[in-house]
Amino acid sequence: MEPINLMSMNTSELKVFLDTFDHVFSDCDGVIWTKKPIPGAGEFFERMQQLGKTVHFVSNNSMRTKQNYEDLFEAANIKQGFEKLTVPSTAIAEYLKSINFNKTVYCVTCPETMNVLQSYGFTCKYGPEVGTDLYTNYIQYLEDDENVGAVAFDSDFNVNLPKMYQAITYLARPDVHFISGATDRYVPLKPGSLNLGTGIFTDIVSEEANREPTQLGKPGKLFGEFAMKRAGVTDPSRVLFIGDMIEQDVGLGRATGFKTLLVLTNNTPEDMKAHQTLKPDYYADSLGSLVPVFNKVNNAKEETSKKKKTKIK
Ligand SMILES: [Mg+2]
Repeated sequence: MEPINLMSMNTSELKVFLDTFDHVFSDCDGVIWTKKPIPGAGEFFERMQQLGKTVHFVSNNSMRTKQNYEDLFEAANIKQGFEKLTVPSTAIAEYLKSINFNKTVYCVTCPETMNVLQSYGFTCKYGPEVGTDLYTNYIQYLEDDENVGAVAFDSDFNVNLPKMYQAITYLARPDVHFISGATDRYVPLKPGSLNLGTGIFTDIVSEEANREPTQLGKPGKLFGEFAMKRAGVTDPSRVLFIGDMIEQDVGLGRATGFKTLLVLTNNTPEDMKAHQTLKPDYYADSLGSLVPVFNKVNNAKEETSKKKKTKIK
């Protein structure tokens, strides 16, 4: 089915649309803020709550600290956003806890993901941060470490050849867990140019180790289910997932069974329509652009209840 432009719906169509979901799960970067808050996003979530929907946030970005997230949510006028947020670092930590993991995690991750894992009591190993210019020096990175029981990849900007040697060496043991957080092969930095994301390194290791990672970031189904569990939601078909990235956000929606709304912050309608396999159910320019649209529904609701009250009198 071709994506439907929410902005072109009339009030009665919007009411039908609103009846199809109870929960809103939203991505953050590119939807609520870029460097600054995107106008109207906070108000959009307020409307959704007024319309009886629960609101939660799901991001692939484990790099931000709690304080940084809290500041961004506050600037966007969203209360308790951090408490309602799911990111890969927490998903990885909870997953390891759920399998009673008690060995060392080799972290090819951002520092914050390692902080989260350590805060759960896990022992982490990382590095080296730099390699040398001689292949012969790399033999040391081919040495196994029996204490390592998991290799985690999640947005490591300092990923390098030695780390990849180590990861592949550990993953040669089939009982070593292979876990990935953010999968982004590309990131929207500059329109019209190809911007590689750190997920590309996970793919190289996956290919060379001949292992598929357990995906605890978007678009992994397990991550979508983890976000549902945290939000206390049991039926994925009653969730509307909002995002700005086709592969990650629409992909997660498709994998988990959510309805999807793509905001066109980083894609043109042509990009969206040209995608061969992933199409959102709905699209809009931005969340702010939907505020006046849903205000109309709210006003119509108020009118109806006023009329009802007058009749009763
Ligand atoms: Mg995004």
